[in-house]
Amino acid sequence: MDKNSVVTILGTPHRLREAVKQSPDGRLHECIYGREIVKEIAVKLQAMGYHVMIDFEPLDLPRNMQSQSPKVERQRELALRVNFVNEVCRQEGAKNVVYVSIHVDASGDDGKWHDPNGWSVRVSTNASIQSKRLANCLFDAAKAHGLRMRQPMAQQKFWPQNLYVLNNTQCPAVLTENLFQDNLDDVDFLLSDEGRHVIERLHIEGIIKYIESL
Ligand SMILES: [Zn+2]
Repeated sequence: MDKNSVVTILGTPHRLREAVKQSPDGRLHECIYGREIVKEIAVKLQAMGYHVMIDFEPLDLPRNMQSQSPKVERQRELALRVNFVNEVCRQEGAKNVVYVSIHVDASGDDGKWHDPNGWSVRVSTNASIQSKRLANCLFDAAKAHGLRMRQPMAQQKFWPQNLYVLNNTQCPAVLTENLFQDNLDDVDFLLSDEGRHVIERLHIEGIIKYIESL
């Protein structure tokens, strides 16, 4: 399909007010790193003529949407993201919209380094064929860059997972977990020039491959 007839929405991860989403040494903060990566991907895809939007750019919700309850605030954030995506779907037609939420994985929340590492992509537990195809395109692009891949089993490239933004958006939607914020080797790589380049490129290449196959 023509690149102008598809809207790619990039999803940023989390918020600054959310508890510990960072490397044990504080060098990588998921919500900040994710926004930097999202911004770069958007700029580069736009320079190539693609139509790109970002679901939520600020680091935190506006004051009047913040809450004493982290759970309430989190639900407001997720609803805001889903409403944004579904409004674009309503305007453009859901089949002409792609949603890619970009995260960094973690295996613990104890502030310590851990062994698990590598790259994975998630789809909703009731994912459409298109969501699975989008996930496969991103997986293939990540693998081509030589990243260590995490798969549920040898033949399956994506993990089905109950995630609010995947379950409730109407268009093809995936969530990428770009290595681990609590694995030292992964963090060193993510923060390197090469690492940032690889994470950006795999999304750009995977998204383009999906759009071209429509
Ligand atoms: Zn995350």
